[in-house]
Amino acid sequence: MTDTPTQLFIGGSWSDAADGATMPVDDPATGEILAHVADAGAKDAQRAEEAAVQAQEEWARAAPRVRSEILRRAYEIVIERTDELAHLMTAEMGKPLAEARGEVAYAAEFFRWFSEEAVRIEGGHGVLPDGRNRMLLSRRPVGPCLLITPWNFPLAMGTRKIGPAIAAGCTMILKPAPQTPLSSLALAAILKEAGLPDGVLNVVTTSRAGEVCEPLLRGGRIRKLSFTGSTNVGRLLLAQSAEAVVRTSMELGGNAPFIVFEDADLDKAVDGAMVAKMRNMGEACTAANRFFVHSSLAEEFGRRLAERMGALVVGPGTRDGVDVGPLIDRAGRAKVEELVADAVERGARVLVGGRTPEGPGCFYPPTVLTDVASDSRLMDTEIFGPVAAILTFDDEDEVIRRANDTPWGLVGYVFTEGLDRALRVSERLEVGMVGVNTGLVSNPAAPFGGVKQSGLGREGGRVGLDEFLEYQYLAVPVR
Ligand code: NAP
Repeated sequence: MTDTPTQLFIGGSWSDAADGATMPVDDPATGEILAHVADAGAKDAQRAEEAAVQAQEEWARAAPRVRSEILRRAYEIVIERTDELAHLMTAEMGKPLAEARGEVAYAAEFFRWFSEEAVRIEGGHGVLPDGRNRMLLSRRPVGPCLLITPWNFPLAMGTRKIGPAIAAGCTMILKPAPQTPLSSLALAAILKEAGLPDGVLNVVTTSRAGEVCEPLLRGGRIRKLSFTGSTNVGRLLLAQSAEAVVRTSMELGGNAPFIVFEDADLDKAVDGAMVAKMRNMGEACTAANRFFVHSSLAEEFGRRLAERMGALVVGPGTRDGVDVGPLIDRAGRAKVEELVADAVERGARVLVGGRTPEGPGCFYPPTVLTDVASDSRLMDTEIFGPVAAILTFDDEDEVIRRANDTPWGLVGYVFTEGLDRALRVSERLEVGMVGVNTGLVSNPAAPFGGVKQSGLGREGGRVGLDEFLEYQYLAVPVR
């Protein structure tokens, strides 16, 4: 912790906020203050914008191989420092160390993946239909970007944006969530060490998100916004981006259905449920939010899930053997408590958990609710906590209709042993991603993203790079 930077990273140098403001970073397991980091204001944002704009032209001309090798070096350094980065993440965010190590590997993989993609940005050449004109197509970086990330995956949400932006030749300003700025600052130091030129990446940590971001979006010099966070904030930022017609990528909230059909393998379904629900203590946009279980299996599924959930060890993420760390803060935990109380009031039965423990830290126990009424608030709210809510169904058409009955469409999970059914149901689900007999879809080589109010565009995969590139077409008549 002692070596972790706590200042703003602008133009390749570390500095305090112009007005000297700082903000505390808390450990959610104890409530203790871990560090004070610089709290940027509008003046700092302007300075970061200037640095990104100044660096853009030269960076766009850097050879793809140069960009690729910086990413590759950064990948190697991140992997070498897995333990250090995992401890930092656990301290500021709360996830158990084993999960934090997993996130370091996942985050690093975006750098490796995009280091490989950086040298494969292709254009094209063609003869137009009139036979005389030629078309030359090239791909160019979109320009300086604003990247805004949430607290739930402090490292991976950054690398998933920084990786393709570097590969494409864009400069950028990263604004991490105020709860988890330390991981982003550590990442900036690693990229500098890996040889990233000054000004290509600038990091502004702040508790004044609106003051910092709105002028950047409206000012006309930032050409791209890549945002990961809640749908409500995404909507606001889309409106702010409209003024200067800023290109946007939006990775927003989810309300994932997890469907267990009567022909499912129950072992696979329970294993899948544990991953889809409990990864990151349920604080994931991909978290299963609504479990629809065929009525013939619901009791057995609920019993087995409750047994597995009840056996998980809750405690500080740094302690050996802990499976479930604290939630991010008291507000996050209060929301989970209210959603559970509302479901119980409407008739849900608590199979396990459901009671907030005494003592410090924002802990909440793994909880399984069954007989959940369809009008419960947790049916149309992201729970963002370790609570599985089970409903039953009898018919395929009915469950698809209920699964799609939400404004969100990020991911869905389908458990069935029938290939026909798996494909048929997946095609009818209004989601960007489907886990078929698996509770985990995230992979840097696959396009991650949602439909409806879960977002616009994709991150990762080959298309993740397209989000940071524009086409330029040259018309060349040949006489
Ligand atoms: P959030 O409240 O929307 O915040 C996300 C980021 O936006 C934070 O850095 C936040 O900073 C910033 N922000 C908030 N208001 C802003 C404004 N007016 N201008 C500029 N920036 C602003 O979301 P969260 O609670 O951190 O994260 C949880 C949400 O993220 C969930 O809905 C989850 O589903 C979603 N998520 C989606 C994906 C995906 O890939 N689809 C991945 C992970 C998480 P402040 O906190 O300072 O306001």
